[in-house]
Amino acid sequence: MKILVLNSGSSSIKFQLLDTVERTVMCKGLVERVGLADAIFNYQPAGGEKSKQILPIADHTAGIKLVLDTITSPERGVIASLDELGAVGHRIVHGGEKIQRSVLLDEESLALIDECTPLAPLHNPANLMGVDAMQKLLPQVPNVGVFDTAFHATMPKSAFVFALDYAYYEKHGIRRFGFHGTSHQYVALRAAEILGIPLEDFNGVTCHLGNGVSLTAVKGGKSMDTTLGFGTCCGVPMGTRSGDVDPAALMHLIDELGMTSRQVCDLIYKGSGLKGISGVSHDMRDLEEAAAKGHERAELALEIFAHATRKYIAALATSLGDRVDAVVFTAGIGENGPEIRERICRGLGFMGVRIDPERNRVRGKEAVISPEDAPVKVMVVPTNEELMIALDTEAVVTASRA
Ligand code: ADP
Repeated sequence: MKILVLNSGSSSIKFQLLDTVERTVMCKGLVERVGLADAIFNYQPAGGEKSKQILPIADHTAGIKLVLDTITSPERGVIASLDELGAVGHRIVHGGEKIQRSVLLDEESLALIDECTPLAPLHNPANLMGVDAMQKLLPQVPNVGVFDTAFHATMPKSAFVFALDYAYYEKHGIRRFGFHGTSHQYVALRAAEILGIPLEDFNGVTCHLGNGVSLTAVKGGKSMDTTLGFGTCCGVPMGTRSGDVDPAALMHLIDELGMTSRQVCDLIYKGSGLKGISGVSHDMRDLEEAAAKGHERAELALEIFAHATRKYIAALATSLGDRVDAVVFTAGIGENGPEIRERICRGLGFMGVRIDPERNRVRGKEAVISPEDAPVKVMVVPTNEELMIALDTEAVVTASRA
């Protein structure tokens, strides 16, 4: 099936047209500065030239119309007509507690997504603008929502209820949701395929290490626990986000240092993590370069990042029962950072996690990087959220027709 995948932000629209049979990208692009007179339309058909056009784009509907016109145009298009489109898959950040899987976007599910807006105030309304535009432009083509949170809907209560007074969960819905679900789902699926294990039997810890970081315990192909929570600031320290901090320390900042909650929020989301510790950069490459030249705080930032990641790999393995098939690295740092992968895995030998230095030289390619005889496979699997969205979208549309 040919599926258009849309990731709509407040002023941008990322898109890919995928063929789910071949698992290939037919074309991709990005509309930037939506709403402005000098918006930018980036487009690339598979095997073709990249192009960049500057033009006025009034809103999401105009932006998506341009995408549809381009993918069907005789010069640059990749399909002859929009009749070839089987469905549109929309990346949606928050499905809350009620949306537990990818769903057909109809009045009922759209209302549920809207209800989740307070949980993702920047993302959900923007995601919905893309859906609204598609419904106007191509009312006959089904729209499917694929959620960052949905893969984690299988977590048991022991993993998602915070140990606050239970009333805060029951009355106010304060709980761990988890994010990056589409990425964790995709790399678990690929790792199982590569290892020749049915997904229902696959046990592993998936490590999404990008600017945002989360690790997930995947047991029998399902999320059992994950490091991100109610928001996207806990677990392992990230580019600019703090990761775990004792909440008492944050209360101290407010009560004793007189910081406002907004200032604390800015600190933990924008002024912490690799950037905050090192004072150098939020970017792993800059830190590795600075640390190699002897910058002590850059070295400390690397060690804190590796320590926290290593600690969570071991901690999440406790959710897997008796068998850990794989530890899977993905996203910018996980896919491209042999040094940090090696640093993380140093010290995990007790649980059978070891790296082969030769095999670990890989960047941005699927690979098993543990020694042949290692009990746990350590793997690199580049994430592909668009393909996962397309595969899920196809499954939902096919099921709805059955
Ligand atoms: P996002 O979460 O914004 O999608 P990415 O998945 O692109 O982020 O990851 C960005 C991170 O990946 C940055 O910290 C960057 O330094 C890191 N990264 C990219 N290439 C390399 C590399 N060759 N070595 C180490 N880290 C890398």
